[in-house]
Amino acid sequence: MLEVLRHIVQEVNAASGLEEALEIIVRRVQKAMGTEVCSIYLRDPGGERFIFRATEGLNKDQVGLASLASGEGLVGTVAEREEPLNLENAENHPSFRFFPGIGEESFHAFLGVPIIHQRDVLGVLVVQQAERRRFDESEEAFLVTMSAQLAAVIAHARVSGALLATAASAGAPAKISGVAGAPGIAIGTAVVVSPIADLYAVPQKTITDRRGELRAFRYALNRVREDIQAVADNLGGELSREDHALFDVYLGILDDSSIGREVVSLIREGNWAQGALSKVMIEHIRHFERMEHSYLKERAVDVKDLGTRVLAYLQASDIEEKVYPENTILVGEELTASSLGEIPRERLAGLISVRGSGNSHVAILARAMGIPTVMGAVDLPYTRLDGRELVIDGYNGTVHLNPLPEVLARFKEVLDSDRELSKDLESLRDQPCITLDGHRLPLWVNTGLMADVTRSLEQGAEGVGLYRTEVPFLLRERFPSEEEQRQIYRNQLEAFAPRPVTMRTLDIGGDKALPYFPIEEDNPFLGWRGIRVTLDHPEIFLSQVRAMLKANAGLGNLRIMLPMISSISEVDEALDLVYRSHREITQEGVEAEMPLIGVMVEVPSAVYQARALAKRVDFLSVGSNDLTQYLLAVDRNNPRVAELYHSMHPAVLQALVVVADAAHSEGKNVGICGELAGDPEGAVLLLAMGYDILSMNATSLPKVKKALRNVNLAEARELLQEVLQMEHATEIHKRLEVFLASHGMEQFIHSPVD
Ligand code: PEP
Ligand code: MG
Repeated sequence: MLEVLRHIVQEVNAASGLEEALEIIVRRVQKAMGTEVCSIYLRDPGGERFIFRATEGLNKDQVGLASLASGEGLVGTVAEREEPLNLENAENHPSFRFFPGIGEESFHAFLGVPIIHQRDVLGVLVVQQAERRRFDESEEAFLVTMSAQLAAVIAHARVSGALLATAASAGAPAKISGVAGAPGIAIGTAVVVSPIADLYAVPQKTITDRRGELRAFRYALNRVREDIQAVADNLGGELSREDHALFDVYLGILDDSSIGREVVSLIREGNWAQGALSKVMIEHIRHFERMEHSYLKERAVDVKDLGTRVLAYLQASDIEEKVYPENTILVGEELTASSLGEIPRERLAGLISVRGSGNSHVAILARAMGIPTVMGAVDLPYTRLDGRELVIDGYNGTVHLNPLPEVLARFKEVLDSDRELSKDLESLRDQPCITLDGHRLPLWVNTGLMADVTRSLEQGAEGVGLYRTEVPFLLRERFPSEEEQRQIYRNQLEAFAPRPVTMRTLDIGGDKALPYFPIEEDNPFLGWRGIRVTLDHPEIFLSQVRAMLKANAGLGNLRIMLPMISSISEVDEALDLVYRSHREITQEGVEAEMPLIGVMVEVPSAVYQARALAKRVDFLSVGSNDLTQYLLAVDRNNPRVAELYHSMHPAVLQALVVVADAAHSEGKNVGICGELAGDPEGAVLLLAMGYDILSMNATSLPKVKKALRNVNLAEARELLQEVLQMEHATEIHKRLEVFLASHGMEQFIHSPVD
């Protein structure tokens, strides 16, 4: 059963568009279940009717014509109830509706299951039979499993369909939902970035220079042939004749008469060489994978290996300087910090990452740089997007293909008013962050790159609440030496002096892996991360702290902060190491003051021990990104559960109150450096809770300042008391929207455009 399921899903995945995918599903399911009929009804995008889209066994002339509303007929009933309907005799059911011309008269047994993707009923999958009988349990289970697996494939194929349609005509509008990554609207041209030598991530493009592409392909092919021949020659003496024959078979795969010829013909049709190669290779890999015989199945690995080798040569010879159009929207399966570095900032309008979520580090970076971003757009067939015009809505986490003219016009309006707003906010740069009733709340920034420094100072930052030291570590190929680190830290400290700079000790693990220090774990967010790594490697911790203390000499604006503290003993150990470093470098003759030391509150245990922590150090700083993830048990990177990730969840708000009160009762300062601080709604609540410092990405700072300058501390406190009684994050969020709107800040509320 599992095999059959796997084969069908594979075949459907390989389909070129929605129609073909549906055809495959009905044909293969009908055959696998041995029924007389299998049909699919799909909800028309934007509409509420379920349209008869494909059938095996009923009248195909009715495809695209017959349709039912939700709740209407048996199909509509399945859709409405969102559960299977298994009937011995369909006509006896009260909801049965006769469709003239569709040809159902002779089929009595009916089994329909809903096709649901991310809570959305996409359609209904139906099998029917003449014999009057209830489908048995295993048949029902099969169809339910099939439908669950196909839901994502159908959602994907729907969007691909919209893309294909556009190539030929104006194309249907399509909206793909992801997760809000960084706020803002971008209208621009997609540029797909793909990882090196990944056959499955090659963007599809058309070209005019066919000869050039053919030449590149032949060159790459010959290089691979030579490589393989060289391996065969090297092993010559050790191989038997039969073994040698294997190399011949291997080389034969690349022959002009087989796969090579198919690639050449696709290039002649106007595909670029990398795209043609990937298409052909993937088809052959699938073909081998589907084979029953295990020896032949194994050949899929060889084909993949060969394809990858050729692709690597093609990519290496693709030295042509990549041209980035104006308003480039960078699209990739998993964008990383370094992929952002390749494109000139003034050309970059937006980002889309198929994987990751709003609190992935690339999204945090994008927010710092002010680039509208959509994360977790899992249904986006991104390899087909290169060169396409797109709109991205970073406020609501949506991507729009072929938007209707009125929708596009609305997006342009939002874009224009955003530009006006940021001009308006510029005037606040030198104004203090002070509430209407005179309460002063310092706004600091989170930094990591040198580029953040200028931006932060431009926005009027009063200090750095979080300098993510892992960023310079991530951009290297080995651990930076103590002296290299000293220089990096010195630059940061000097740039902001005399403003305070809070340097966090190395926070790797989780989703932040250093390429030269891989940490592979099944459950990395609960594993070896943050302080756990550096306490196990005191040499890394010591050299980092020594570099910080030395960099601080003569400046005195350093603060040190410890990430991912979950037990008091970790703080005690870390403090010992800091004192030791201080002693050592003082003995070396460096005049280093002892900086303020703080602890990040990022895990629930630290919330409950906040007082004990505060006793030991000079300040606390809440990392609300991780605290939300750990309190709500929601992976901050996983788009599937992104809807459950609410930094204004009642439980998170209560924890934030506990931490602020605990720090204050020990007479210590408390700040917050998670993304919540950069959200005007969150900032109003944090003000009311008594947070002493809000640290955020530089882009958010002017907005937060504007919001706080428009409110009274007294009314913020009343608002906090009111929302602390609420039981749902959405209710809290709505209340805050109303609050902002009533204080003249409608421009900070962004509802979906369509
Ligand atoms: C946090 O967890 O809120 C935080 C500021 O740290 P990071 O996002 O780097 O994990
Ligand atoms: Mg964190």
